[in-house]
Amino acid sequence: MDGLRQQLNALLATCDAESTRTRDPVDCVHRYARPRDQEIVGLIAASLAFGNAVAARRSIDRVLITLGPEPAAMVEGASYDELRDRLGGFVHRIYRAEHLAAVLSRAGELFRVHGSLGNAFVQFHQASDGHFREALARFADALRGDTTSRSLRHLVSDPRAGSACKRLVLYARWMVRPADGVDLGLWPIAPSELVIPVDTHIHRISRNLGLTNRRTASWATAEEITAALREFDPEDPVKYDFALCHLGVSRECPSRPEPDKCQQCVLQDVCSVWAPGGVKGQKRPRVSAQKPGELRL
Ligand code: SF4
Repeated sequence: MDGLRQQLNALLATCDAESTRTRDPVDCVHRYARPRDQEIVGLIAASLAFGNAVAARRSIDRVLITLGPEPAAMVEGASYDELRDRLGGFVHRIYRAEHLAAVLSRAGELFRVHGSLGNAFVQFHQASDGHFREALARFADALRGDTTSRSLRHLVSDPRAGSACKRLVLYARWMVRPADGVDLGLWPIAPSELVIPVDTHIHRISRNLGLTNRRTASWATAEEITAALREFDPEDPVKYDFALCHLGVSRECPSRPEPDKCQQCVLQDVCSVWAPGGVKGQKRPRVSAQKPGELRL
């Protein structure tokens, strides 16, 4: 365990967060100075961080242009119909203008009632007796409403249903973890409560490192990986997420071990699928490969 802790800390030390951030959807949140704008831009960016990275960035930018320079004020003051009309023919994968307008109009209602999305989350957290998963579920309920739309239920997923809810959990990481140039530290929730956002990259690399043996990217998998990381930092277990995820997004950690990449990897001594001179005899994790440049899906 000490070896893994040292290697993970070495990974953090060598991660160029400033440069890497420019390839991450959180980057657009940093264009805004006001916390309420950062909250709504983060919600949009995390919700659309789905599929090809370039297409996702294009869709996020299109929505932000539509909302103007003060997106929180826009969302707070606009009706569902106004937001849907502004978004016009917006399409991103399975999401259309009406789905995003529904979430934004409900976020506007949270602004009107609570003043900020963080205040709303704190209230849900208190009403959930401090249980992070239930607080996140109530927050998702408030954004999604009682809908039968599959697209809307996918856009804002339900943590109670068992999936990893990676985009919702990613949004929570951005809002809760201390400001470090990537995350923003806007919400007064302890980072120790966070769960790691499990996408295909985190799932595969976590299996490589023995943080989980689970084959599906479920909520249980996210909790298991987080529990393993908590051994290394009980106060801030998901601080490793950004660097680990971008190892996969950048293909520095390929879906199958490659000597030219693995020999440069700071995790090579603790990786179960790589050994100098060849691939170790263990079964390769059965996690689906992802194309270069793809985000959390
Ligand atoms: S040694 Fe290779 S397979 Fe293992 S984590 Fe590093 S890059 Fe990925």
